Amino acid sequence: MSVLREEKAAPRTGSVIISMKVDISDITRVNGASLDLSLHEDRTVGVQLLEGYTLSEPVRFSGNLTNMNGILKLDGRLKTGYKVMCYRCLGEIERQLDITMLESIVNGKSDIDEPDAYTYTGDYLELDKIIEDNIILNLPMKQVCTQECKGLCQKCGANLNEGSCSCKEDSVNPHMESLKKFFSKKN
Ligand SMILES: [Zn+2]
Ligand SMILES: [Zn+2]
Repeated sequence: MSVLREEKAAPRTGSVIISMKVDISDITRVNGASLDLSLHEDRTVGVQLLEGYTLSEPVRFSGNLTNMNGILKLDGRLKTGYKVMCYRCLGEIERQLDITMLESIVNGKSDIDEPDAYTYTGDYLELDKIIEDNIILNLPMKQVCTQECKGLCQKCGANLNEGSCSCKEDSVNPHMESLKKFFSKKN
């Protein structure tokens, strides 16, 4: 039972950035056989998985892979960290991800009907895609540094968390002004 990691450097961009290969030859032939997995991939640090989201910590996975009637069940926890901008003030925030994973993987040549299953061929399972998908699906869309974040002034761009700007006085919406004029003419 061994876990292999490719020695060649993974590219820092593109979709295939995590390179984790597992030798599954011991479990694919025996129903009920299980493999403990403990993976630690640090070449992912600094990689942008999704626009605006950069991994800031190694990707760690611990769990097991079990052959259940020909379907490999991957069960475990995935942890990493990422950096993203606060969508209100554009400040950098760092967050943790702790994901419970449960995936089914079938031999690409088998006729097992398992919806949403990943596939493998031969004696090795590539975990890259499965792990990437799980991270991406668990990245929240809009992140704020704190719930109280005041964001940036729409006019001058000042960070309102650091104090108010001088734009406050004339906060009249020009749109509302012309509407007011429009209605006052009518009356
Ligand atoms: Zn903020
Ligand atoms: Zn301002």
